[in-house]
Amino acid sequence: MKIAIAGFGALGARVGVMLQSAGHDVTGIDGWAAHISAINTKGLTVTEDDGSSKKFFIPVMTPKEVTGEFDLVILLTKTPQLNRMLTDIQPLIAKQTQLLVLSNGLGNVEVMAKHVSSQQIIAGVTLWTSDLVQPGEIHVTGTGSIKLQAIDHADITAVVTALNEAGLNAEVSDNVVEAIWHKAGINSVLNPLTVLLDANIAEFGTAGNGMDLALNILDEIKQVGDVAGVNVDVNSILSDLSNLLKPENAGNHYPSMYQDIQAGKRTEIDFLNGYFAKLGRENHIATPFNALVTRLIHAKEDIERVK
Ligand code: NAD
Repeated sequence: MKIAIAGFGALGARVGVMLQSAGHDVTGIDGWAAHISAINTKGLTVTEDDGSSKKFFIPVMTPKEVTGEFDLVILLTKTPQLNRMLTDIQPLIAKQTQLLVLSNGLGNVEVMAKHVSSQQIIAGVTLWTSDLVQPGEIHVTGTGSIKLQAIDHADITAVVTALNEAGLNAEVSDNVVEAIWHKAGINSVLNPLTVLLDANIAEFGTAGNGMDLALNILDEIKQVGDVAGVNVDVNSILSDLSNLLKPENAGNHYPSMYQDIQAGKRTEIDFLNGYFAKLGRENHIATPFNALVTRLIHAKEDIERVK
């Protein structure tokens, strides 16, 4: 299958390597000049926890440099970058191209619907992870999975087969929206609170009222979900959170929002807590915790940017 990974950063590169290793024709699309140049001259270095590393040679180029049409485009930009990416890659999208979005957060499908037909859109959510160490190098750990669903009954058998040939553990869901909200619930707790408390995930877990704060955020998400017709299982999210706090799981990690803030980048907050607060406002549901967390993260973005 001819596959483009639009957003060849930390996770895009990991997914791209796996698909290429399974024999697919993979092209990376990215705009970060130092990263592109490092990969195209020395290969993409992938390191693992045991210290081993391998090089992979995948062509990576800017949207303008890519030619041809693709069977599948996997979208893996940060959520605020998605609209721009879709605009930039418009010439590469044919009528039969399917687009799978694996970026975190809510609202991705609405953004995609402005650019392509509903028949082309596949909504997804992934538990794969990856860290960008430096331009041209990622560090990967553990395994993951993907849940996906065509939003308009398109046949996605070939896409699922390609992902599974690559060992990406893809599973078709009949309610991917619920899975996306579930993950967004987890991210809406861990991402902003680790930033605001300056803690890694395990340290956040040592806060006496950490889980109370989580519950305040999740209760609001549940109420908004009820109005939006999405079942939010708060207990199941809390149980996943408890597992993630353990050092042997994700405890020693700093979530991506923490890393974005450190790097002076814009975060995905408007597509997590900010999205829930907006839905709350539109539906007259009070979401004070999500609204406050969103404003505090925006304040933090401004402070870090001028430092
Ligand atoms: P990243 O910032 O490392 O990668 C995004 C890449 O997209 C960057 O290299 C950037 O240069 C490129 N890009 C963005 N807009 C572009 C444009 N218009 N033109 C060209 N290039 C453009 O981010 P990531 O960590 O790989 O995360 C991607 C998405 O996946 C996010 O939504 C994130 O929340 C989600 N996610 C990440 C992980 C993880 O472990 N990294 C895990 C699960 C989900």
